[in-house]
Amino acid sequence: MLTVENLHVHYGAAEALRGIDLHVASGETVALVGANGAGKTTLLRALMGLVKPSAGRILVDGNDVTGYAPARMVRQGLALSPEGRELFGNLTVRENLRLGGIALQLAESEILQRLDEVCTRFPRLAERLEQRAATMSGGEQQMVAMGRALMARPRLLLLDEPSLGLAPLVTDEIFAIIHQLSRAGTTILLVEQNAARALTASARAYLLANGRIADHGESSRLLTDPSLRRAFLGAASEQNPAASRLGAAGLTNIRLEKPDMSHQTFMPSFGTTEELATHQLKGLQWTVRHAYEGSSFYREHLDAAGITPEEITSLSDLRRLPFTSADDLRDGYPFPLRAVPFEQIVRIHASSGTTGKRKVLAYTQKDLDDWVHFFARCYEMAGVTPLDRVQVAVGYGIWTAGVGFQLGAERLGAMAIPAGPGNIDLQLQFLIDFQATVFCSTASMALLMAEEIHRRDVADKIAVKKVIYGSERSSVSMRQKISELFGGAELYDITGLTELYGPGTGIECADHDCIHYWGDYYLVEIIDPETLQPLPDGEWGEMVVTTLCKEAAPLLRYRTRDITRIIPGPCTCGSLLPRHSRIKGRSDDTFKFRGVNIYPSSIDTLLSAVPGLGSEFQVYLSRDEASGRDQMLLKVERGDGVDVSRVPELLHETLHQFKKQLMVTPEVTIVAYGELPRSERKSQRIFDQRITDEVV
Ligand code: ZN
Repeated sequence: MLTVENLHVHYGAAEALRGIDLHVASGETVALVGANGAGKTTLLRALMGLVKPSAGRILVDGNDVTGYAPARMVRQGLALSPEGRELFGNLTVRENLRLGGIALQLAESEILQRLDEVCTRFPRLAERLEQRAATMSGGEQQMVAMGRALMARPRLLLLDEPSLGLAPLVTDEIFAIIHQLSRAGTTILLVEQNAARALTASARAYLLANGRIADHGESSRLLTDPSLRRAFLGAASEQNPAASRLGAAGLTNIRLEKPDMSHQTFMPSFGTTEELATHQLKGLQWTVRHAYEGSSFYREHLDAAGITPEEITSLSDLRRLPFTSADDLRDGYPFPLRAVPFEQIVRIHASSGTTGKRKVLAYTQKDLDDWVHFFARCYEMAGVTPLDRVQVAVGYGIWTAGVGFQLGAERLGAMAIPAGPGNIDLQLQFLIDFQATVFCSTASMALLMAEEIHRRDVADKIAVKKVIYGSERSSVSMRQKISELFGGAELYDITGLTELYGPGTGIECADHDCIHYWGDYYLVEIIDPETLQPLPDGEWGEMVVTTLCKEAAPLLRYRTRDITRIIPGPCTCGSLLPRHSRIKGRSDDTFKFRGVNIYPSSIDTLLSAVPGLGSEFQVYLSRDEASGRDQMLLKVERGDGVDVSRVPELLHETLHQFKKQLMVTPEVTIVAYGELPRSERKSQRIFDQRITDEVV
């Protein structure tokens, strides 16, 4: 939207700006940070037409506006909330606000409507419209200055030092408003001496020094870069973080008083895949010996397979080990696979077993420490920082989920909000009141929340930038819907299972095309679930895991039933950690229909590819007793806002895709958006009502 090219500004002989290049896209919040005298305010004043550039160009939507007078800049869609507010102290709040629209020569009715809008944005001003501006507090004066700029309904809002001279709590309030404006789609260029604040509030930033751009890029990177921290956060050190310029201004962000946390990494230290393999072989050798010596179950199985721990000399010896299954865990109830004495066990967790006995897993303190460490790594890979607030909306208690998400966030140094599952009203209230930036839940719960946020029209009141969801398959269209209704939040699919510590054993990276898994903690094989033979990299099959350092309940070739594939080669994100595809389903989830094996996820994928369909569907399988033929009824929702008149076309396309991709012909019913049930737990989508004893 705004492009600045090689901009120079002189004050007399002194050159204040020495060739600035800068770009702000529509809807973006971009920060300009730098020390006093770096040229930040001069740049804003040049953009606003208050000082004339000596060279270079300013383009708004591609039109050259260099040298325009301020009133003309306002008509181009720019408005400035200046440093020091520059209010007329003797005029009332109302009169000051009205000045913001004066360059536009608006009709009285339009002015009144915009005054109303500003009062809705700043309820505090609504109560004080007739008060003289000079009698207002600093924070309120800042609101008047911002409100005055908003009267022009700017497409680009220039904010100069909004926190200047304000107390920390008031600064919080002002930044909450800036955040809301940004969420509502206002494009903002923010100048702020308080670098930490500005970087936290923006997506990208430019660092100015001596009239030049010293660096620019993603704000999160600039915020955590140690050398930039030293340069721009003043004298702050690990010993004395408050000695920064922020500290001096009384504006120390409490989150930054944990400097060691923003430097720490949870990524493994190996630099090559060979180093990883060496580490893995040591882990495998240790695990087989430990399992053999510590667990009677494993000793029996290894003896039966005729393998001794000494025979494990390379990673390929993994294939000689016997498989372990969920049945082995259930048979060993209540302490299956236990390989350490009871006095070393500090916790147990259990899976939500719906049939038979639950799968119970034990942990030593080291197991828990390892789990929390790599859970923090999940957050790190998703770009979560110590400045984030993580709302954990998953189950607590005997299940592994909640406590893993919470301890991982705390280990990272972020703020955990242990909300627990369900209770949409409470979740929403927390999202608004605590301004959580990361929301963790199941995919179904995330969709429920997203739809509720949309229904209540509160997207601009929440601050969620990332949704981390797991324990359930999710279709492409479901992901799009969640992201869109959460105001453009980024989605991260997190993997894990109770048998293997719990959630957090891998996560989607920022490049979003795969799951990185923690190859330094466990090995992954992909096998054909029928023949049990290992499959080559790239082929879909069942994931089998072997732990490398798990003490209390090690896993040797444990069949997870999750269907995925190894993605060979390095990731575009640069991480050396190995990766697999997002989980496609479970090998025991597939159903057979007229001789065709179908994964529910293939239906997800197929429906996602038909524009106009929603993300929710149900499949009912039944058998016609007379003919013995199986029937499939598919119920699928229309997309939100898709007119009923499109149903015949949608039906036609859906049937076409089914025939083409799955070679089956279901009966299809297209229902209205929102008609199928949503649940905050895993939604059941396949209802198999055929006679089951024949299958057995
Ligand atoms: Zn990656």
